Amino acid sequence: MTGDGTRCVHAGGSGDEPGEPTVAPPVLATQFHLGGADFYGRATNPTWSALESAIGELDGGHCVLYASGMAAISSLLRTVLDAGDTVVLPADGYYLTRAYVRDHLRDLVVREVSTSAEWTAELVAGARLVLLESPSNPGLDVCDIAEIARLAHAAGALVAVDNTTATPLGQRPLELGADIVVASDTKALSGHSDVVLGHLTAADPDLAARLRTERTASGAVPGPFEVWLAHRGMGTLDLRLARQADNAAALYQALRGHPRIRGLRWPGAAADPAHPIAKQQMRRFGGVVTFELESAEAADAFIAKARLVAAATSFGGLHSTADRRAQWGDPVPDGLVRFSCGCEDAADLVADVLAALR
Ligand SMILES: *Cc1c(COP(=O)(O)O)cnc(C)c1O
Repeated sequence: MTGDGTRCVHAGGSGDEPGEPTVAPPVLATQFHLGGADFYGRATNPTWSALESAIGELDGGHCVLYASGMAAISSLLRTVLDAGDTVVLPADGYYLTRAYVRDHLRDLVVREVSTSAEWTAELVAGARLVLLESPSNPGLDVCDIAEIARLAHAAGALVAVDNTTATPLGQRPLELGADIVVASDTKALSGHSDVVLGHLTAADPDLAARLRTERTASGAVPGPFEVWLAHRGMGTLDLRLARQADNAAALYQALRGHPRIRGLRWPGAAADPAHPIAKQQMRRFGGVVTFELESAEAADAFIAKARLVAAATSFGGLHSTADRRAQWGDPVPDGLVRFSCGCEDAADLVADVLAALR
């Protein structure tokens, strides 16, 4: 197999006939002359197919794109769960997943489990679907995906992993035994803060076909231009993740032991409690770092003072951003900051952060 950089550049590549563009342009068509592979833009699209083949290659399964990460998650829940089923959700994961189930899928039995819990057969007993998020957002805890998949499969459950923070280069959940990868490609995969997009990748082609059928019927489809932008962004995923992880390592080093910082987390650091499992199952660690300041006011003031860091509620982009998560209702301390290292120079970023803390 070729390396990550080569795969990112070439995955889902276009044709190589003389006179064809070397990079396929977006196909924005609603309708197609009947008789070929494509016929109507809610069902199929060649620009989707190119990115689905690219992400499917990186994830190691069959990829289905959606209009957003939440469209992907909700489509998965609607497709594999029936009324009365039990679903295990991460208590400390992306908050809207829990809110969506609570407010819109009221006939499910929900069991919330922390990512860092002591996972036992009892926690997954009777479940139809176990959704994990590792590393979790925003706490950056990790769980042993292979071990939980073994427990869940023994209980007859499907296992899905929200892989948004890790990206397909950072972690391959299907190789660890999961059935489905869930991701918001709005974050690092697209990487330029100009696209909202999501995907599911299933190990089983029949499950992927069911998901496609549900997507066509529910209409949770992405716009071809967004998909094309994401494919364009994915070409540099390897480069961006490498720089972001270098910046995260430098920031972690600079903040470790800083008198104002508590609860500093980055799974790539040898001293982090998540590191032993992260090292075993992740291929690289990404650029998201979490820490706490004294209060909500202190965290807001820090973010406002940093010149290179925008206050914004997304992560994984080219530009460094920071988000005080409690303002969105995450069950975390008021002063907790999720810091997404961008692709600036490490020396500039660290100097800016230390100055803002002074
Ligand atoms: C952002 C995010 C989502 C939701 O994705 P959207 O593209 O915003 O719909 C789901 N899970 C995680 C872990 C996320 O960070």
